[in-house]
Amino acid sequence: MEQNEINYQVIINEIYNTVKTQENIGEITTYIPELAKIDPEKFGVYLTTIDKDGYGVGDWQTKFSIQSISKVLSLSAAYKLIGDQIWDRVGVEPSGNPFNSLVQLETDDGIPRNPLINAGAMVICDMLVNHLENPIDDFLRFIRKIANNPAIDYSKSIVESEKSVGYRNVALCNFIKSFDNIDNHPEKVLNFYFHMCSLEMNCQELTNTFMFLVNGGLDESKEQVLSVSQAKRINAIMQTCGFYDESGEFSFKVGLPGKSGVGGGILALHPGKYSIAVWSPKLNHKGNSYRGMKFLEHFTTRTKLSIF
Ligand code: GLU
Repeated sequence: MEQNEINYQVIINEIYNTVKTQENIGEITTYIPELAKIDPEKFGVYLTTIDKDGYGVGDWQTKFSIQSISKVLSLSAAYKLIGDQIWDRVGVEPSGNPFNSLVQLETDDGIPRNPLINAGAMVICDMLVNHLENPIDDFLRFIRKIANNPAIDYSKSIVESEKSVGYRNVALCNFIKSFDNIDNHPEKVLNFYFHMCSLEMNCQELTNTFMFLVNGGLDESKEQVLSVSQAKRINAIMQTCGFYDESGEFSFKVGLPGKSGVGGGILALHPGKYSIAVWSPKLNHKGNSYRGMKFLEHFTTRTKLSIF
């Protein structure tokens, strides 16, 4: 089916109604106390096409904690600032392990497998702390600019909530530091990391923010924020590493580059065509939104618009 022949609104409405009437399996995130307060039945979808047409259904206007989806944005900021040197300190291979795992770091000499797991995102945060004068403010400015949206912000309550229980993340950062792959004091890196994870957006804002990866690196304010080749590489990493140790499954069932977060969001995109965000807080046992995965599987099956 050609993109301009598709009635997206009808399709997303129908899939939404189908998925909503089915069982909503899984658990919401409880290890971050603030996230445990979210209504598990929230369910929103938004799609933005390359031509700037937008289609929403359900709770697409409600802001939520994008959590690890932000790791793609910090990676993009670092890639823009530093270029290919970032790959000296972080790999590009799927980890096949949970997002917060420590085990591979021991055998890999403190080089995280990829930038989308916690360990890799912390190394990226460390690079940004090295290069930015005020990392927390400067990163937010970067996001607002690529999204062309000054309303995007951090959630202070999520930052504090994560800090109050961040034992494993503290351990990860210190462990990587012991291999000399963190330059700054772990507290400084972690403070930035927790802010980054606390970014809040609604589904529409999320799709707009990621249009630069649909558009070959051209952001919403019309700046070439990444080169075509850099955008391609980030999409490749999302394809292979974006869904924890379920990245193969997502690729198999949905066939799009994407990234999930423990707040129940999934952002997926088709280069040159569209970006789509789904938010439903109940997560499957691998930590990905149960309904989000289901919705997107139906969506690419129905429209035949996967990258494969
Ligand atoms: N802030 C979360 C953590 O570090 C991010 C987890 C995620 O969304 O994958 O534990």
